[in-house]
Amino acid sequence: MSKGSINISTENIFPIIKKFLYSDHEIFLRELISNATDATLKLKHLFSIGEAKGEYGTPQIEVKIDKKKKTLHIIDQGIGMTEEEIKKYINEIAFSGAEEFLDKYKDKIDDPGIIGHFGLGFYSSFMVADNVEILTKSYQEGSQAVRWECDGSPEYLIEPIEKKERGTEIILHISKDEKEFLEKERIEGLLTKYNRFMPIPIKFGLREESEWVGEGDDKKELKKEVDNIINNPKPAWTKKPADLEDQDYKDFYRELYPMQFEEPLFHIHLNVDYPFHLTGILFFPRITKNIDIQKDRIQLYQNQVFVTDNVEGIVPDFLQLLRGVIDSPDIPLNVSRSYLQSDGAVKKITGYITKKVADKLNKLFKDNREDFESKWEDIKIIIEYGMLSEEKFFDKAQKFALYPTVDNKYFTYAELKEKTKDLQTDKEGNLILLYASDKDKQHAYIETAQAKGYEVLMLDSPIVSHLIQKLESGDEKVKFARVDADFIDNLIKKDDTNIAKLTEEEKQKLEGIIKEVVPAETYTLQMEDLDSDQNPFIITQPEFMRRYKEMSQTGGGLMGMGNLPDAYNLVVNTNHPLMEKILKAKKNRQKYVNQALDLAKLSQNLLKGKDMTEFVKRSFDLMQ
Ligand code: ADP
Repeated sequence: MSKGSINISTENIFPIIKKFLYSDHEIFLRELISNATDATLKLKHLFSIGEAKGEYGTPQIEVKIDKKKKTLHIIDQGIGMTEEEIKKYINEIAFSGAEEFLDKYKDKIDDPGIIGHFGLGFYSSFMVADNVEILTKSYQEGSQAVRWECDGSPEYLIEPIEKKERGTEIILHISKDEKEFLEKERIEGLLTKYNRFMPIPIKFGLREESEWVGEGDDKKELKKEVDNIINNPKPAWTKKPADLEDQDYKDFYRELYPMQFEEPLFHIHLNVDYPFHLTGILFFPRITKNIDIQKDRIQLYQNQVFVTDNVEGIVPDFLQLLRGVIDSPDIPLNVSRSYLQSDGAVKKITGYITKKVADKLNKLFKDNREDFESKWEDIKIIIEYGMLSEEKFFDKAQKFALYPTVDNKYFTYAELKEKTKDLQTDKEGNLILLYASDKDKQHAYIETAQAKGYEVLMLDSPIVSHLIQKLESGDEKVKFARVDADFIDNLIKKDDTNIAKLTEEEKQKLEGIIKEVVPAETYTLQMEDLDSDQNPFIITQPEFMRRYKEMSQTGGGLMGMGNLPDAYNLVVNTNHPLMEKILKAKKNRQKYVNQALDLAKLSQNLLKGKDMTEFVKRSFDLMQ
């Protein structure tokens, strides 16, 4: 037996480690299992190049709790260590790793989420144990097994022991304050969180399995105990797309998110070797209004070890509603998020993901347009958001982004312009694209537009006003207008002028009468000579006021506009026969104006409460 002292400058580094990673104690298990995995994979490699003798077999990693002794064991069948190697790798290298880690990060705890994810390695076990043993035997022929022990002070002990099997067993004597790590549920929870997809099978206790033997009446159930393997060493994203069926992707989705009952709409398999390594599978879920963006997020792995489910900075913002897995050894983890965003490699990764998603969407659109159209409602938010936030995505999306009409025809932007250019170009040469946001509320306006042969789009997502603004800014001769932004002939102005039935004098008189009844603070009057079959009163909401207001409500940097009151115009059709009646009427004049105003409000869904009650009463009166 020999004793030694770990060569360090600080008297006792472990209390610092404990304090530093206070909130993240649980990572010790992931670190130890990563070491066990590395040791096993190294051995596998040595076998593959003929450097190791004997059987590689089917090595497992075993995790065991001994409640009586208050110990937690992590056992592998990997390369093991000789005494020299322990001295070198554990006493010197691992130690300096921990020390370096502390030096580097002790003043920069700006992002505890990602710092502390990696880098501390073996010594993180002292966060939860007041004594750690290593029992290890190297794979090399005739090597002597050794035991190393350390209680967290710089002193350690090392001695030869009897150990038959190659590999390493780490024994943690869990400290009083950390008793939770002796609970089965806690350990199982950690193993499923961090190690669910690690490449070496991890055994945690036994599981009962039943098997049916015999036939017919003799058939009986046999219970037997089998190893409880808690991980899937070969998850779908590590396989080649060509080896996977659609169902495999769906099964993997279920495996990742057992609580998700809906199937994903489609998946994107990521696979790149150059200029960085990245694999993964992204899923498009159905985006509903009540989707919980905090739940079931994209998970980031590094060589099949779970790192985080906060992929901010790595996955572009607009794709954070997707689900799935990204695995890359090239994402620096021991850095803050602000650094991550400026890192060149990470920028490339973000760009690659954006491009892959755009390509996949384009392919889905081209291969089966009908199917793509049927999914549009569920994915449009992501695509529209992407078009607004990433210029490159915008360019690509122009090919497959769809603009549905109120009667469910789907156009691309180019198709839409082609389809509407003859009828909907106004006398100044601007193409006016009409849209509605609510089929029921704007029904009358939609009908009027359709009667003229115009196409009316159905654009109802919350950020559509921003998208329209962007499309207009890229195309000087295109303007969007909601169907109720003005009366139809003013939305798309043509050369033909209507003949006025009333004289100027009559119009002025009419305006005076209407002003007496219609509140000026709510409605701006607009006297127009429309076709006599158009409604007498039409309430409109000017496009720009409304659009800016909507944009500011959904974060367009137009501070304060969101609180402005709604602005309405009241278009009076002076050619409608009702106007003559109003002019001539003696006793019911005000009633007629009020009635016409209420009917106009009704058709904009604006008639409510007291106004509605009065309207109903007045309607009955007028019938008598
Ligand atoms: P890192 O894993 O980042 O190198 P660690 O502190 O976790 O740092 O481990 C230091 C070294 O100790 C490893 O590089 C490895 O050589 C050795 N080691 C740790 N755990 C094992 C193990 N289970 N089997 C064999 N060697 C190990």
